[in-house]
Order: sequence, then C-alpha cells, then structure tokens
Amino acid sequence: MVEELKPCPFCGGEASDAGRIRYSTPLPDTWWADGSPVTEAFYVNCIKCGASRRSGVVDGYQTQAEAVVAWNTRAPDATLQAQCERQRVALEAARNCLSAYVTDLLDDGYPNLASDVIVIRDGCDTALAAPASLDGKKA
Ligand SMILES: [Zn+2]
Repeated sequence: MVEELKPCPFCGGEASDAGRIRYSTPLPDTWWADGSPVTEAFYVNCIKCGASRRSGVVDGYQTQAEAVVAWNTRAPDATLQAQCERQRVALEAARNCLSAYVTDLLDDGYPNLASDVIVIRDGCDTALAAPASLDGKKA
C-alpha cells in the first residue's frame, strides 16, 4: 500500500503522486537496483509550487510507493517546526515590546531616540514577514 503523501516541505501545498515517465525504449546501460530494465519511473511533485522529488540517474523511482517514501522523507521535521514556531513567537513578543516602547517615547517627546528604536522594530517586522526555512536562513 502506498503511504499518505505529506504536504510540500517548501510551501505546504498539496502533493501529487501521479508523476510518471514512460520511456519508449529501456534506458541504455541503466538498470534498477534489482537488475530490471528502466522503462518507466515515478515521481512526486507539489501541485502548488512545482517542487519535485526525483532520483538523479533516471529522473524518478522504480515504483510509486518508493517515490512517495522519498517525498515524505523530505517533509519538515516536527521538532524543527516547533523550534521555528517558538522563535517566531519570541520575535513577535520582542517586536511588540519595542512597539510599546516607541509609543511611550513619542508620547514623552523624545523623537530622536524613538527613531532608533523604530529601526529595530522595522527590522523585526521584516524578519517576521520573511518565510523562514528550517536551517534558519531566509527563504
Ligand atoms: Zn510546494
């Protein structure tokens, strides 16, 4: 039985396991691990962003089930997702503190000091708006 497809690790979109390449003649000098000729290959792709999971040599996998397993092993790890969410929450809290500080400074008549804090707050906003990848770099 083919296991259930996980969502796209890049955009969260729905994936399709319908990818199939049929070769009109078996690929020359290429065999699957079990020694059978390569006449077709299966792959999974994201319907939304087009990301696909194909093996290098034959552009796919011997069976649909293998293609699904390969796709699912690339899905994001739940521990890393939780870590990203904790960081997002912390950053949002810091941003909200800065925003309240800016409001207080402006109310008290220190516009120059406030402008410095506004720069920091806007930097937080930029970081919050950018999609983060699991290795911590901006996508
Ligand atoms: Zn996608």
